[in-house]
Amino acid sequence: MNLIPLPAFSDNYIWLIQHQGRALVVDPGQAEPVTRWLAENQHQLDCILVTHHHGDHTGGVASLQQQWGAKVYGPASESLPFEYQPLKQGDAVNWGGLVFQTLDVPGHTAGHIAYWSQPSAQEPILFCGDTLFSGGCGRIFEGTPAQMLKAMDTLATLPGNTRVCCAHEYTLSNLKFAMAVEPDNLALQAYVQQCQKLRSENLPTLPAQLATELQINPFLRSRQSTVIQAVKAFAPQTAHQDVEIFANLRSWKNDFK
Ligand code: ZN
Ligand code: FE
Repeated sequence: MNLIPLPAFSDNYIWLIQHQGRALVVDPGQAEPVTRWLAENQHQLDCILVTHHHGDHTGGVASLQQQWGAKVYGPASESLPFEYQPLKQGDAVNWGGLVFQTLDVPGHTAGHIAYWSQPSAQEPILFCGDTLFSGGCGRIFEGTPAQMLKAMDTLATLPGNTRVCCAHEYTLSNLKFAMAVEPDNLALQAYVQQCQKLRSENLPTLPAQLATELQINPFLRSRQSTVIQAVKAFAPQTAHQDVEIFANLRSWKNDFK
């Protein structure tokens, strides 16, 4: 079983798992990178997982479904423009000997879901779409800061060795913000070096490791005193309350350049 990021658009990844001549993809915003990989590697596509309704995650689904007859799964509380099996918290998808657990992680969109699996003899895998990024989190478009904070808390409880498969290569720009929040965080400084090296070699910074994210990602660290102090320095009116601190951290990032 192999986990592969297929680059799409300018900074998306379509995650692919290959297993005995079959493939599963996550959030194929474009069909073409998937079709090309399948042809080059002579695999058959039989499963598509979708995390949320945005076009850069769903644009290629209909044509891949039509071409391969692949089974499609997606969030129960969003409407997607193709036939799919709706999933909510606690539902599972079985594929290639893997069991994917569905997690409800609304915030970026109202019905965003994530998929987590523990393969035998390999590190766990998380497909989190646009909820958690390395060093950051998704913009809150349809949900509330309270929901996004809860989503962060849900993901933070997964095993530390989980491979975090985010849908975008946003790491370096996220880390610029993370450094503004916690300039003295040594783990963060080391991680910046590591990611800059990877990007200078044109390699993905992903998957990230959840344990590392817990040390460096300000959105997973919004209850740490260093992060609270930074948010209060940026927005002095911030009340000492989890959701408000998280909300102001997210707004700070929205305008950060
Ligand atoms: Zn999105
Ligand atoms: Fe996206």
